[in-house]
Amino acid sequence: MGKTALILGISGQDGSYLARLLLDKGYRVVGSSRDAQMSHFSNLVRLNIRDQVEVESTSLNDFRSVLQVLKKIRPDEVYNLAGQSSVGLSFDQPVESFESISIGTLNLLEAIRFLERPIKIYNAGSSECFGNTGGHPADEQTPFRPRSPYAVAKAAAFWQMANYREAYGLFACSGLLFNHESPLRPRRFVTRKIVTAACRIEKGEGERLELGNISVERDWGWAPEYVEAMWRMLQQDTPDDYVIATGETHRLEDFIDTVFTVLGLDWRDHVKTNQTLFRPTDILTVRANPAKAHQKLGWTARYRMRDVARMMVEAERAE
Ligand code: NDP
Repeated sequence: MGKTALILGISGQDGSYLARLLLDKGYRVVGSSRDAQMSHFSNLVRLNIRDQVEVESTSLNDFRSVLQVLKKIRPDEVYNLAGQSSVGLSFDQPVESFESISIGTLNLLEAIRFLERPIKIYNAGSSECFGNTGGHPADEQTPFRPRSPYAVAKAAAFWQMANYREAYGLFACSGLLFNHESPLRPRRFVTRKIVTAACRIEKGEGERLELGNISVERDWGWAPEYVEAMWRMLQQDTPDDYVIATGETHRLEDFIDTVFTVLGLDWRDHVKTNQTLFRPTDILTVRANPAKAHQKLGWTARYRMRDVARMMVEAERAE
């Protein structure tokens, strides 16, 4: 019998790529959305796998709903990728962000503990937990200094996972993933916003792209290979937490430059910064050390920022 995986948040970028990966590995894949009747699962459709995936409605904020889906599906592995995922939006919706991320994770852990089944669980942590790393690349021992409601919620969820692992012996792993992008990234996220606007500008639309702080630095990777790291974490003998990143840091300005250059344009002619788009607090610089993932999981990012930017532009043009 093949394994069964439950992906909470399957409609999102990572959920859809993970579903494809697990189907390729012979899993039965069940995914949840807050409202599976209403969701179009457009990312699953785009990857051509919608009809191979079963879907359920699940609200992570509702313990009974979580318990029900676990009892019904009887998964071997659960991947929790659901929750409010925008740092920017979390400043406007701090309670929704905290509840969907932190209370949601707690409900999931409690339900798995209550069922007393050997379910392995992956939780989507975030590099946002580290805050500004300065010159020191963050690894699994680096203290958290979150700088947004989103990051505070992710930090709480991270420690809930660690606590249930230590206190109750759950096979619980968190991935501290740095930014990872793809053509499935929703348009509100800055990388996709830049790529879609640049492609419109190339077509001759006399638009100006307005952005917040473009001097921020990030570590950008390619989402389809980051979901492989999630799966590998759950195939280890012992549960643990891992930093997942390329190990390369670039300015947002460099990402913009790469996108416009691929299209034969000079970004300076088309982009302007807008102070009203700056966040109340932002992370200026991040550095990552993904050495543990390399040593223990045998995982290394193949694609770097410039590959990611180019592949996103190519996908946007093909659309
Ligand atoms: P997406 O936003 O693409 O997907 C998240 C899914 O969660 C959505 O499809 C949605 O499913 C569900 N969701 C959205 N808002 C809420 C909410 N308020 N309450 C409950 N569920 C909600 O995210 P990604 O696939 O990019 O990321 C997956 C996870 O990894 C997220 O937890 C994200 O925070 C985290 N992460 C992502 C990084 C990245 O660079 N992409 C970096 C580090 C961490 P539906 O509407 O169907 O219910």
